[in-house]
Amino acid sequence: MLALTAPRFVRTLQPRRLLASLPHVVEHDGTRAERSLILLKPDAVERRLVGRILSRFEDRGLAIVALRQRMCDRALAEAHYHEHRDKHFFGRACAFLCAGPLVSACLEGRGAVAAARRLIGPTDPRDAPPGTIRGDYGVHWRRNLCHASDSEESAAREIALWFRDDELAPWDQTNAPWLYE
Ligand code: ADP
Ligand code: MG
Repeated sequence: MLALTAPRFVRTLQPRRLLASLPHVVEHDGTRAERSLILLKPDAVERRLVGRILSRFEDRGLAIVALRQRMCDRALAEAHYHEHRDKHFFGRACAFLCAGPLVSACLEGRGAVAAARRLIGPTDPRDAPPGTIRGDYGVHWRRNLCHASDSEESAAREIALWFRDDELAPWDQTNAPWLYE
């Protein structure tokens, strides 16, 4: 039975040819789909919400290209929040990232930056509607569970900050037609 079905299976799934025919996944210039940098901040780890929060992104069709739990030191936190260095909350925001282990992830998919931002919801969980991560799990603006890049430019900078190139493991997603067609 296996001998009969296996060749057909192999013929049907030709990921590279399939993806090349999908401009949403591999753009005309051959670049891969958009990426976003996600952080599950120390409150998410301490509250055992990592699996549930990651599921939200996966359920949306975004793929994990890199994933790592680690401690964040002050220099990394300050580099991450560099754009906020003159804001009054800069010190607190950096301290929050360093308060315990956090999980960094690089996610990939069509429109990944906007999709991830919509999934996490507004900065202050009190403004975040139910159905968003911050709206479902957050209570206070100092404990807002996650970070997601706010633009493709930020994503590129942040991914390079949190991951070495050899830590990224993209793959051809054979379910792409079911997500994008
Ligand atoms: P977001 O995380 O939604 O992109 P920002 O980039 O504006 O929000 O801010 C970065 C982080 O700094 C927020 O996620 C939050 O943890 C913290 N933060 C933002 N605004 C304030 C504030 N007014 N007071 C304290 N912390 C803040
Ligand atoms: Mg931000």
